[in-house]
Amino acid sequence: MAKIAFFGLGNMGASMAKNLVKAKFNVTVFDLVGSQVQLLAEAGATPGSSVKQAVESADIIISMLPAGKHVESLYFDEDGIVNNISAKSLFIDCSTIESSTAKSIGEKLQAQGHRFIDAPVSGGVAGAAAGSLTFIVGGDKADFDEAQSCLQAMGKNIFHAGGIGAGQVAKICNNMLLAILMAGTSEALQLGIDNGLDPKVMSDIMLQSSGRNWTLELYNPCPGVMPNVPSSNDYQGGFLVDLMNKDLGLAMGTAANNRSVVPLGQLAKSLFQMHGNAGNGNLDFSSIFNAYKHG
Ligand code: NAD
Repeated sequence: MAKIAFFGLGNMGASMAKNLVKAKFNVTVFDLVGSQVQLLAEAGATPGSSVKQAVESADIIISMLPAGKHVESLYFDEDGIVNNISAKSLFIDCSTIESSTAKSIGEKLQAQGHRFIDAPVSGGVAGAAAGSLTFIVGGDKADFDEAQSCLQAMGKNIFHAGGIGAGQVAKICNNMLLAILMAGTSEALQLGIDNGLDPKVMSDIMLQSSGRNWTLELYNPCPGVMPNVPSSNDYQGGFLVDLMNKDLGLAMGTAANNRSVVPLGQLAKSLFQMHGNAGNGNLDFSSIFNAYKHG
């Protein structure tokens, strides 16, 4: 089985690395936070004491880091991976970053004889823990095929979106649409409530009508309509407003690069930005529902 070096053991990465261990891959892990490395060592991974030691004879490098600057730094700094790896490896970056950064990282790695795919995920912390993530991959088909076995250990649906960077584009298109749907659904529900309707009845009607969408089916933003979703748990857990704002920022940057017209995306970005700035950054993104309430 391939030897994997896994970098970034945060909310998502720790569970993803655990699932690779469960699938019997030989996994060495590294994070700047020592306690996270220890946690994975207890789950059966080999703890890496440095980047250099973690990448020793690794066939596959996986990174799950906050943003593009972290990925560039981990890969290309003096004490980073590229300067400390002897083998020609397959790099899989699962972080959500700018597609332009993914492309430039891919070009730099290829110039050094390595291979690269961008493989951002959808499914959140729960999907990472359950091993049911959706991977949206950009890169050469041969590299996509080579990554299959380890991506399957962490996810259920694995899509090839196109060349390097295409995974990131598809991911932020999806999340921009999700933000628009969540804001629109909140707006429609509150309009009904303001006019005396029961939000559960409203939701049932829209679910069987042309307004049906994923947020109504699985993630209703109005408290009490649906059990076991963040809105019925004070908007705790789930997908944070801050993370949605990050993804909407990436979507707007991508749109600007190609002069794409995204008025609804821009409006959603402004709404979620205002909501985050009002102290809601650490709540689930369905809390945008609260922005529509009034006295
Ligand atoms: P996180 O902040 O919880 O974890 C990031 C980890 O990377 C931290 O443990 C940090 O110490 C580590 N790190 C940073 N720089 C490093 C370096 N140079 N070397 C080694 N480790 C380093 O973030 P997260 O929630 O796990 O998200 C990771 C990525 O996944 C982000 O790009 C995010 O947008 C994306 N994502 C998150 C979710 C979610 O629900 N949390 C869902 C989909 C996608």
